[in-house]
Amino acid sequence: MILEILKYPDKRLRTIASPVQEVNSEIKKQVKDMFETMYAAPGIGLAATQVNFHQRLIVIDISDEGNEPLCLINPEIMQKNGEIEYEEGCLSVPNYYESIKRANEIKVSAQNELGQTFEIEAKEMLSICIQHEMDHLNGILFVDHLSKLKQKRLKKKAVKQSKKL
Ligand SMILES: [Zn+2]
Repeated sequence: MILEILKYPDKRLRTIASPVQEVNSEIKKQVKDMFETMYAAPGIGLAATQVNFHQRLIVIDISDEGNEPLCLINPEIMQKNGEIEYEEGCLSVPNYYESIKRANEIKVSAQNELGQTFEIEAKEMLSICIQHEMDHLNGILFVDHLSKLKQKRLKKKAVKQSKKL
């Protein structure tokens, strides 16, 4: 099922997600729907917060073919190294791209869609994507990393656009 993606400046995007207590059938269904929604968008990452489901769960696929699905439940960053700057976008902030600085290499511990704990080392694109999606779980959008002036301009534009719809 394709889910509705919340758009900035929707306040529900500011919700801090709770840990997933158990990877049960409800969570598995949510993972499936989130992959479907992400691929349909199309996007390379989606956090539960963006579809108004406030538990710590993200899905990612940065491959060109869309055949490397990665599901992270209750992700935690264990280590961060280096710095990388990349022009990011977000399904919740359509048609807006800005350069953001993040850690280049990260080590993450999480559970998969079977509830098994695993660790993953990520760099560059995958690392950026995981950090971006994990921010969503804490109610943070990539545009929050920009200057106050840029944020003000963007908000004005987004409010104007949402009134047109
Ligand atoms: Zn995003």
